[in-house]
Amino acid sequence: MSQRKNIVAGNWKMHTTYEEGRELATAIVESLQPSETIVVLGTPFIHLKSISHLIKGVSRLYLAAQNCHQEAKGAFTGEISAAMVKSVGCEYVILGHSERREYFGETDQLIADKVKAALGTGLRPIFCCGEKLEVRDANGHEALVAQQLRTGLFELSAEEFSRVVIAYEPVWAIGTGRTATPEQAQDMHAFIRSLISEQYGAELAEATSILYGGSVKGSNAREIFAKPDVDGGLVGGASLSAAEFVSIIESV
Ligand code: PEP
Repeated sequence: MSQRKNIVAGNWKMHTTYEEGRELATAIVESLQPSETIVVLGTPFIHLKSISHLIKGVSRLYLAAQNCHQEAKGAFTGEISAAMVKSVGCEYVILGHSERREYFGETDQLIADKVKAALGTGLRPIFCCGEKLEVRDANGHEALVAQQLRTGLFELSAEEFSRVVIAYEPVWAIGTGRTATPEQAQDMHAFIRSLISEQYGAELAEATSILYGGSVKGSNAREIFAKPDVDGGLVGGASLSAAEFVSIIESV
């Protein structure tokens, strides 16, 4: 079983026009220093093909889509399939982001179907999980995340699961400027790893990359990433500045 990898993934959300996206990707490529950390750019769909050319040959730099449809093809106007995402040069796809759960009604079961579709085309899902503030305040965060993992991922075979990256993103920390403390992140990541171990065994649990997401910045990344079960981050707002994003990558 391979050693688990450190990953920093940017989620650009619905930001940047096509030209702005190319400029941002170019600035990131130009300032990246060689390292073992895997870097993923989660750009809007329409930027993917062009940016895949732009990053060609840059080692450890990959592309992600921010969503895909659960069906392989069909009459689903406006939707994008996993195979389409794969065909423009993506290696990863972000699935189950809390904004998709909240604003687009994505359920754990729907996300499980998307994970299956993504894996079926050879994409690696970055599977997002995490609780809202009222759930944490009621001390229900572990039960909630366990439920998200059981429905969303734990029907997968071990081979399928080995291609998944998990991102723990407490909803109260996304885009709010409020991060989880390094201890809160570590506690949840260790809990998630223990669930994986129960389901798939210790070896696969140890090999799984678990990212933290929620207001990660250059100024707080290092202390969060220093925790033993935190294997990098999923970064929203701060991934829109090349300097800030690169400083986060260098904090791993
Ligand atoms: C995200 O969108 O996944 C995220 C973590 O956003 P932010 O870093 O802006 O909180």
